[in-house]
This record gives sequence, structure tokens and C-alpha cells, in this order.
Amino acid sequence: MKFNSINLGNNLKGLFNKANKNDYIPYGKHSISKKDINQVLNVLKSKNITQGDLVPKFERAISKKVNSKYSIAVNSATSALHLACLALGVREGDHVWTSPISFVASSNCALYCKAKVDFVDVDPATGLMNINSLHNKLVKAERNNLLPKVLIPVHLAGSSCDMLRIYSLSKKFGFSIIEDASHAIGGEYNNYPVGSCKYSDITVFSFHPVKIITTGEGGLVSTNNDDLAYKIEKMRSHGIVKDRSEFELDKEGSWRYEQQYLGFNYRMNDMQAALGLSQLTRLENIVLERNKQLKFYSKILKDLPVKQLKIPSNVKSAVHLAIIRFENISAEQYLKVFEGMRSQGIGVQLHYIPIYEQPYYQRFNFNQESFPGSQNYASSAMTIPLFPGLNIDQQWRVKDSLEKFL
Ligand SMILES: *Cc1c(COP(=O)(O)O)cnc(C)c1O
Repeated sequence: MKFNSINLGNNLKGLFNKANKNDYIPYGKHSISKKDINQVLNVLKSKNITQGDLVPKFERAISKKVNSKYSIAVNSATSALHLACLALGVREGDHVWTSPISFVASSNCALYCKAKVDFVDVDPATGLMNINSLHNKLVKAERNNLLPKVLIPVHLAGSSCDMLRIYSLSKKFGFSIIEDASHAIGGEYNNYPVGSCKYSDITVFSFHPVKIITTGEGGLVSTNNDDLAYKIEKMRSHGIVKDRSEFELDKEGSWRYEQQYLGFNYRMNDMQAALGLSQLTRLENIVLERNKQLKFYSKILKDLPVKQLKIPSNVKSAVHLAIIRFENISAEQYLKVFEGMRSQGIGVQLHYIPIYEQPYYQRFNFNQESFPGSQNYASSAMTIPLFPGLNIDQQWRVKDSLEKFL
């Protein structure tokens, strides 16, 4: 069948997607509608497949959605994090702190700027940055003159960190904040949309296919700060300035442009923006469906010795991931459940191996014992499948497989 491999979303589910009982179920995946496909095709048939008017249109749509002044779309969240660090002036000798329970991009961005990385421990119940650990670490760093220039809290699984408390600490200790909201578009904190930057300088989103909405590959920087937006917008495209009123050289010629900074080609193209615009119209529905699936898991897993990751009461989670935690599980049992479920075609995963355990990070000599919450989390957490289009039968299959290997 023509659309055999395409997930057409809820209303068409079953029409083209005859799920086989033993089909592999990934932990997450994209959902592409017919409209998404047509919007991308339209771009391919148009004059501009990159640098047309759809990227600015996508940026305005995101800013409207998350209530921020500026959105700057780029080719990945990794690029967005890099530009965010550069715009905030991170350079050699500076310190950047983030969560060890994250994708490596959250800390690599600091290394790109030759800064030093350090980690703040997480609360194992939520997987989110532990604010008491942060406070203690800041007090100690202040004594040793090692305060961070930038803190990057990570909204794991789509739930916002406690931004109000992080924000007040930033005022007290003088650091900037980049929210890594790669998982969290469509979520809310204290009734503010994630991305509004109410309690941060910059928020970064990812549109990789496993995330909430996708542009294939893609990312975005959201901010309310004129100066940061200006710098990031220039740096995503080689550091080139095209507006004559901003030129440094006084030379005639309408063809002229000036490179004033050392930037990159981190641009998003119009095919990606078209897909993003189309996906964005379904954001609320996608987040609702994700929340519904998570709720169904709580119902069917309630008799097993597992807990779901806690979502703070003032947070509306975008539910990027369904993460469960085992109560008192040995390393041996943990391995057995993972390998067993995977052998049955259930794509369980750990989000994440603590970044300080990665071979590349060994050179920095982090001490695992400084992060008891993260160690506890990483030895007990498992991501089970959750994505638009996952059906009840598949959720039961996950439960049966989990029960079998526990
Ligand atoms: C996916 C992810 C990134 C990187 O996103 P890309 O768009 O793939 O570059 C960064 N941080 C977190 C927490 C992520 O999950």
C-alpha cells in the first residue's frame, strides 16, 4: 500500500496502518498527516525551497504560541544551544552548568565555546534539576569564585523545571538562564507557556522527529531580549548583515552585504518550516494525546512495582517521554527487563545515561558520588513507548512484556 510506512494520525489510524501483533514499537516517533505532506510538496514546487517566507512565518507562529517576542529558527536544537551560549557571551574560562540527566547536546554547547562544564544533581523522583543541590552548589562556587555564567535547566520528558526558584537564584548569584525545552513545547509552568521566557533569558526547542512536533531536523531559540535576538539571528547565517543602516563600511552598491561576526550556516529551510507550521496546528491535540496515553499507562501499570516519573503540580507536561522507575531493582534485574522487552520488540530506552559517564567526558574527572540523585535515577529509570498513534493494544503489549520480565 502506498502510505504503508507513514503514520497518518488518529483519524486515519487503521486505514493504512494495519499493525502486526509483533511489530516493533519504538519509544517515540513522529506523526505525519496528509496535510503535512502536501505542505512540504507545495514548497518543493515553489520558487524558494530555502530562505523564502515560511521560516519567518513559522517563527511568528511559534512566538505567538509560546508568547515570546522573538523566535529564531535554526537547523537543530544543538545549533540553538550553541548560538544561545555565544549570544550570552560564554567563552574560555567561563563555567556553564546543566543537568547530567540529559542528551549530550545540553553540555556540549558549552564545550563548543571552550567553557568548563559542571553538572547539578537531579531529583530522582522527577528527573529534574534539584533546586536544593543547585543552591548548595552556588553557595560553594561563590566562595571559590567559580560561579557559572550560564545555567541550562533541562525540562526532562516535557515537564518544566522549577523556573521561579531558578530565576530567583539567578538574580542572587548573577547567572543567565537557557531553558533546554527540547522536550517541552506545548507544556506550561505556572500557567505560562514553556518558551515565554518569563523566568529565563532564552528557551531552546528541538524539532527532531522523536520530539513533540517535528521539522525533520530543526530547532528554535525563543527570547524576549532584543540584543540576544539580534546576535542569534546574525550568527545563524555566517554573521552577515544585510541592512544598510547597520553597515560599518560606507560604500555604494545595493548588492553589498557585510560579514561583521564569525557565524555559521545554522539556517532552517522552507521545507522544514512548512512541515513545522503544519505540525504546529496539531500541537494541542498531540500534547493531549500524549497526556492521555500516559494516564492510560498509570492505570494499567498500577499493580506493578513501578512508579511514573512525578510531574510537579504547577506544571503541565508536554509528555515527550513516558518514563517509569523501578522500586528497588538490582543492576542484574534491570538489565534483564531491558533486554527481555527489547527482544520482544518493545523499544525501551534510558533517558539518559548521565553525561559525565560518557567516554568523552571522562577527561573531566567527574565524581559520580557528587550526583547521588542522578545515579539513583539512572539505575532505576526506563522509557516505555509513547507517541501519537500508539494504540491501546500496543500499550497493553508493553504492560504484558514488562510484567513478564519483572
Ligand atoms: C534532542 C535533544 C537535544 C538536541 O536536539 P537536536 O535538535 O537533535 O539537535 C538537546 N537537548 C535535549 C534535552 C534533547 O532531548
